Amino acid sequence: MNKKEVDIIIKNGQVLTINSRMEIIENGVLIIQNKTIVDLGSEDLLEKYTAEKVIDAQEGIVIPGMVNSHCHLPMIAFRGLGEEGIEDRLMGYFIPLEKEMLSRKLIYDATIHGAIDMAMSGVTTYADMYYHVDEMAKATKKIGLRALLGQTVVGFPVVDASEAYGGLDYAKQILTDFKDEELVSLAIAPHAPYTVSKDKLLAAKEFADQHKLIIHIHVAEFEDEKNQIKENTEKVSVIKYLNNIGFLGENVLLAHCNYVDDEDFKIIESSGAKIAHNPMANAKGATGTARIVEAMQYDIPIGIGTDGLMGSNVVDLFKVMTYTTTIQRIRKMDRTIMTPEKVVRMATLGGANALGMGEKIGSLEKGKLADIVIIETQSMNMIPNYDPYATLVFQANPHNVETTIVNGKIIVENRKLLTHDIRENKKIMDEWFHIIKPFGNSLAKKN
Ligand SMILES: [Zn+2]
Repeated sequence: MNKKEVDIIIKNGQVLTINSRMEIIENGVLIIQNKTIVDLGSEDLLEKYTAEKVIDAQEGIVIPGMVNSHCHLPMIAFRGLGEEGIEDRLMGYFIPLEKEMLSRKLIYDATIHGAIDMAMSGVTTYADMYYHVDEMAKATKKIGLRALLGQTVVGFPVVDASEAYGGLDYAKQILTDFKDEELVSLAIAPHAPYTVSKDKLLAAKEFADQHKLIIHIHVAEFEDEKNQIKENTEKVSVIKYLNNIGFLGENVLLAHCNYVDDEDFKIIESSGAKIAHNPMANAKGATGTARIVEAMQYDIPIGIGTDGLMGSNVVDLFKVMTYTTTIQRIRKMDRTIMTPEKVVRMATLGGANALGMGEKIGSLEKGKLADIVIIETQSMNMIPNYDPYATLVFQANPHNVETTIVNGKIIVENRKLLTHDIRENKKIMDEWFHIIKPFGNSLAKKN
């Protein structure tokens, strides 16, 4: 029988499909042609297909690329600053730091750095909220990741808008840049209900609906948030407020949801909105513990995220998976909940669904785009590997990521980035370090 020629074959892997039956294929094979997974199954497939590029997974764990469902990636340039225990870190440190330091160039350079870090950590898709997202798009494409890039709209002047709420006009201007893009899509990101007026929330919503964009917003992150919303005169919950003004809908991605009760979950479910859960940043910033176990009782797509890189410091979703499990267990004092299998599903297909991309990515199935990560199981921390889901959630770290494939293209192989010169990036980030450090230190003294 003549073998069929394809682009890439991955063999000898423990394939976690994350399909509806959560099937695991031992000694599995994946067949990739034209960006797509065209076949997968046992090693018998090697009789059927041939490829110039054959990747031997060496019994590593093969998963769909992980999805970081809430991030502010360019803040990676500032990670490690303002860690001295500052009371109002958002308004007293982040915002003044960004005001002084941010530029188009820094946003581009930092996105390159962050995208490299993510690619090498097994993250293939991220949902972001930041400024000059056209620069972020260029950098993300250069490294080869998939991204949903939310242009921030907020009620004060920022780096890409000299007037309050200028982000909306900015988004309108860059809309066409994203028109035929495969890897990057534009989202609109009103910062939060307490920093964006009702009228502007609805203007962002109208713009998103008109152009079929996702809306990415921080919601119910802080305990007192409902009282901080001027137009919430009845002091109802943040979710109820957003529902009452007609903001919620299928295209809305709600980051955090730390202060959300069962009635609110019902509202989220019936609106079709999604949740991005950020347990590591919530814990570090002491903002709250989301009721995610309860949320999982509803038909609500839930992904996990790192949040900004000053909130979590790393793009490591293995670590976020550990937090996702352990924080819910300690909150409920119940060791039977949040099984590793559920959490790995949340980090992959859950995130894809939260970003409205579940039809295309998030699982290893025929017809889905080839976003694939191979995690080696030969390092000391990976031995033994009895239960691959538990291995990923409780043992693995980014250094175990061997291969990252996005849209059928290999971007990391044998832990080497193939799309960019890392030394060049290190040099550029070192230059930024010397520019940023003095101002960062002076801010710390003021707080
Ligand atoms: Zn955030």
